[in-house]
Amino acid sequence: MSTRQENLPVENTQPADRTKFDVAVICALRCESDAVETIFDEFWEDDKKSYGKASKDPNSYLLGRVGQHNVVLVYMAGIGKVNSAAAAAHLFASFPNIRLGLVVGICGAMPQPTDGNTEIFLGDVIVSTGLVQHDFGRQLPNRFIRKDTINDNLRRPTSEIRSFLRQLCSRRGHTILHKELHSFIMDIYSEKGFENWTAPPREEDKLYRASYPHIHHDPTGCIVCGISAEGQISICDVALELSCEQLGCDERELELRKDVRNDLKSTEHGSLMAPKIHFGRIASGDSVMKSALHRNQVAMREGVYGFEMEGAGAWDNFPVIVVKGVCDYADSHKNKRWQNYASIVAAATAKALLCQWRGIDGTSVLSDSAKLEMNPKNKGVRDYRDDGVTFINYGRVSNQAASQTFNQSVTFH
Ligand SMILES: [Zn+2]
Ligand SMILES: [Zn+2]
Repeated sequence: MSTRQENLPVENTQPADRTKFDVAVICALRCESDAVETIFDEFWEDDKKSYGKASKDPNSYLLGRVGQHNVVLVYMAGIGKVNSAAAAAHLFASFPNIRLGLVVGICGAMPQPTDGNTEIFLGDVIVSTGLVQHDFGRQLPNRFIRKDTINDNLRRPTSEIRSFLRQLCSRRGHTILHKELHSFIMDIYSEKGFENWTAPPREEDKLYRASYPHIHHDPTGCIVCGISAEGQISICDVALELSCEQLGCDERELELRKDVRNDLKSTEHGSLMAPKIHFGRIASGDSVMKSALHRNQVAMREGVYGFEMEGAGAWDNFPVIVVKGVCDYADSHKNKRWQNYASIVAAATAKALLCQWRGIDGTSVLSDSAKLEMNPKNKGVRDYRDDGVTFINYGRVSNQAASQTFNQSVTFH
């Protein structure tokens, strides 16, 4: 089998069949799956060996090892809940022992979540502590009523996922996650073809006021674009496809951020930021959130940190954690410059998460003796000591330890 690194632990055990895979990573976009492909330490298939798939399963897969886990990457046929639900159902037919699904990729963020404790910037990562199907319900003329009974909406995360999230937020878990994230991002940059997936300059992180729309701003230039006396915003199809520079969106309408990031570091691969990992609820919907006013309404109602479209579809089939890099602010202002970088940060976070996910008997890559003897210097099982990383919001989680649900949010700095 092809090996991607030389410093491997001995006695890696190649899985006997598809039942030995217990982790799936699900991606919808090309930039997302391209980034996730780089986190594999080893691939289990080549032109001489294939694990096949169940009959009538249309999915395409990449099988391999990420740290200690046998992982299957699922390439979705398209974006959205319908595609992710279909992909997850077929995945489960071919890989019946999947215990954890990571939906990895990019998302739009609520820049100032309503809990008032954090600000989210482009290039940060959101890890879901719960999903909300924000557009599942009834739209009345003056308000939206979301169906929220236990049978109508998404169940809360399983006890195993809640327990895992708690571990990630422990002092040790936090330290490992933080250190691994940076290390894995650098690993991705060392891959051929990813040298240029670096973060755009911080000046490219632009947050416009929620009331300022992305439209043709010259009223004589377009008969569709405009704001009515009631505040209703109309955007033409042409404006939707143009950048803020092309439309002349006014930078005097940018929000002044409370917590200005000045985190660019020069590396051999160009500028690198210190991405922050936010744990919070994510809104999953059937449509792309491209309206700052609706974004704020949903965030106010549901307390969500971000918006995406695939998590809800996968949710019914196995326990899911959504891991998404922030590439925009879920508003109408068009900016695709952060997508590649956000994909890398999400993929690296997913790998950092998997370092702490415990395999069960029969599915771990390593033989039992190798687990015990493994050199901690080997990738995937490192020796972590608290080396002075600061924990700004750490206390909030530990204080809540007695609570039965993990629905609070926390940000790692
Ligand atoms: Zn227009
Ligand atoms: Zn704009």
